[in-house]
Amino acid sequence: MDALDAKYPFFATAREAVADAAVSLPELVAADAPAVERARERVERALMDGTVASESGAFPAESAYDAQAELLSYPIARILVSLLDSEPAIGKYAAAEAATAIDRIREDLATDDGLRSVSTPTVALDDVLAEFDLTEAVRPESPRPAPGTGGGAAATGAGSAPGRGPEHYWIAVGAYLRLTSPSWGESWRLVNRALADGEVRVSREELLDALEAAVEDRVREGLPFELAAGEGIAAELESGVADLKRLLSERTYAGPVDVVAPDLFPPCMRNLIDKAERGTDLSPPESFALMAFLVGIGMSPDEVVAFCADTSLDAEGIRYQTEYLSDDRGSQYPPPTCETLANYGICHNEEDHMQVAADPLAYYEQRVAEADEITDWREENATAAEAGSE
Ligand code: SF4
Repeated sequence: MDALDAKYPFFATAREAVADAAVSLPELVAADAPAVERARERVERALMDGTVASESGAFPAESAYDAQAELLSYPIARILVSLLDSEPAIGKYAAAEAATAIDRIREDLATDDGLRSVSTPTVALDDVLAEFDLTEAVRPESPRPAPGTGGGAAATGAGSAPGRGPEHYWIAVGAYLRLTSPSWGESWRLVNRALADGEVRVSREELLDALEAAVEDRVREGLPFELAAGEGIAAELESGVADLKRLLSERTYAGPVDVVAPDLFPPCMRNLIDKAERGTDLSPPESFALMAFLVGIGMSPDEVVAFCADTSLDAEGIRYQTEYLSDDRGSQYPPPTCETLANYGICHNEEDHMQVAADPLAYYEQRVAEADEITDWREENATAAEAGSE
């Protein structure tokens, strides 16, 4: 089996490879093959850590699993997540598959052509665009001045960094609207974009954000499978599903700390708030991490909107994200772990406090428990609101 299919198991060629392979998933599951163990890990890591990368190491060089186990673990993981019977779990799983894929695509694109090798196969951006029928919809910005961008500035920004490709792309407006969401922040609204001849200008990183959304949609497609509990493959996977359900309930058992003490927030969250207060847009992972944290400590959507009133985050986007995160489905969306935030460059592990807690919420809870005196932002906010109305 092709290592590239194993790396990107949602690609059409990977699906064909699974269909062509002379293996039966029920037999693999009955035999508890390595693909089954890897599938369990895939789902567990998705739900707990927001990634599906194996803890054994990066595929293929360091992973404990071969290409066959890696590839076949994907359809088995989809069965497992279907059996969890939880819409948020499916959403989180799809988001984790997409986040992991985009990390891999980013690494592949950073790999200079001259360094590509057969043992570590890589995709090119054109391959990814073709996979999602975006070949006609996305074009790199040419070095000439871009329409509607002030000419010279665009020409400067359009340059290709050696080995990286162009810094900007133009994407057809229909594809842009399909793949992005205004809830990602003000800068994603069409009115705030350079738009010319039916195309929207995006940076390279923004194009990757849009592709991440495309991967997530692809992974979500067809989930959950209709499987009769207690029969066939569902019966074989019963104990794995029970373990995953237990993990989910443990993870969501502890109630929120329910005190808002910004002085005690961990540095990663303080940095994000400072950045937004300076008027700088947060990237989708940054905004998700912050919203998940604020909801995780027990703030309601209204409180988060008030708390972020003087920042670059817009009320509508905040409401959209926090309402989803705070309903009973969203309770299974804990804030990303310190490890995940470090991968996104959000955590700088000041004073090595990653040793203290595995995620920002746990770190905050610890600081709240240790604090002698706490002033809750809610009380201050209510007092200020009362004073303002007098
Ligand atoms: S170690 Fe964890 S809590 Fe601390 S800054 Fe990093 S992500 Fe935040």
